[in-house]
Amino acid sequence: MAKAIQAIRGMNDILPDHIGFWQHLENTVRTILTAYGYQEIRMPIMEKTELFARSIGEVTDIVEKEMYTFADRNGDSLTLRPEGTAGCVRAGIENGLMYNQIQRLWYTGPMFRHERPQKGRYRQFHQIGAEVFGLNGPDIDAEMIVMTARFWRALQLPEVELQLNTLGSNEARAQYRDQLVAYLSDHMDQLDEDSRRRLNSNPLRILDSKNPDMQTLIAGAPQLLDHLDSESADHFELLKQRLTQAGVAFQVNPRLVRGLDYYNRTVFEWVTTQLGAQGTVCAGGRYDGLVEQIGGRATPAVGFAMGIERLVELLVQAQVGLPDSAPHVYFIMAGAEAEQQGFLLAERLRDELPQLRVLNHCGGGSIKNQFKKADKSAAQLALVLGESECQQQQVQVKYLREERPQQTVAQTELVTVLKTVLAL
Ligand code: ATP
Ligand code: MG
Repeated sequence: MAKAIQAIRGMNDILPDHIGFWQHLENTVRTILTAYGYQEIRMPIMEKTELFARSIGEVTDIVEKEMYTFADRNGDSLTLRPEGTAGCVRAGIENGLMYNQIQRLWYTGPMFRHERPQKGRYRQFHQIGAEVFGLNGPDIDAEMIVMTARFWRALQLPEVELQLNTLGSNEARAQYRDQLVAYLSDHMDQLDEDSRRRLNSNPLRILDSKNPDMQTLIAGAPQLLDHLDSESADHFELLKQRLTQAGVAFQVNPRLVRGLDYYNRTVFEWVTTQLGAQGTVCAGGRYDGLVEQIGGRATPAVGFAMGIERLVELLVQAQVGLPDSAPHVYFIMAGAEAEQQGFLLAERLRDELPQLRVLNHCGGGSIKNQFKKADKSAAQLALVLGESECQQQQVQVKYLREERPQQTVAQTELVTVLKTVLAL
């Protein structure tokens, strides 16, 4: 036998035994997004490399070391998307969805980052993201965050906490940046290698460092919250007020700066302690400068993205109940005549009862063997069609999961009987 070829490290198959959790999550979130007026948009999974360099920022983990970048056959530099916002903004500008318009958009699909694979961190992973363009007030920030809180309630995931911060205006942040650089420069000896590299290029990211040795230094740093411009402070106050009024609890985390460069004002993360080190399940914020930076007309924007793998892991851990997907009936057919009649009868049932899940036995074999398969399928009922049933235009209904005598039913009555028995 030839040696089997394996999947790429960090890129996983999502198998049927897990797909119910994925679909439950996707359906729940999609229903709520639609109820809030969001429309789906689908972008290519590859973009020109330049788009990500210009939007996410040259000195970020993603652009510095995580992107899948390669030259295509024409020599153009392409990148598998590491996130969805850049492509969504590009698509919005290119298709004239932005200027002087309000758009509530959402998307889902695979993202690619060359990270060290571990639990909750993969090289191909999946996000559901949403972006709102054309609104600059705190009301939409609040609506968006309250909507994400509704996702967790609908999914029955109580163990996620909201962390909130504001990055202020670009000008206020620039002033703060100078103070931060001054403070950190006074403590050069305590900076790790990454932070030294970032000190001039992207000092705010140092606040986001996960290195335990850096935490005391970071705790003593000047705080951005003390350097807010008054408009950003008002924006933040109103956002907090709305969340409180809506009963959405939050923690202000002054060190929350997010890993991407394009944010201003509101930033937030939903975190859990249930997943070990990879605890952020949803993250987002305001990015009023990005549309212009990518070549569109200035358009305020706010958005978030959630990691589906991490949320599915939470659903699995919480053992949430999923909508039933096992067949209602397993159709047993004994003999050539029964196979022919049964095939058509099953099609008639599907015509009349579109919600009915029917699994036909295919491939013949003994009745005993077919019953074994019926049992394994987890179906509630077996329909049995043999030679004599065929002749009399009947079918036997056998209950596989309860003590109940089997019934002989006329084929013309079958739809009515199934409707009652299965409460369809
Ligand atoms: P982290 O700090 O965990 O690296 P991030 O700030 O890089 O996260 P974002 O770019 O904000 O992540 O992406 C939004 C969400 O997508 C994350 O909160 C997480 O749930 C998910 N996510 C990000 N990277 C990965 C990955 N490599 N594997 C699985 N999920 C991921
Ligand atoms: Mg990351």
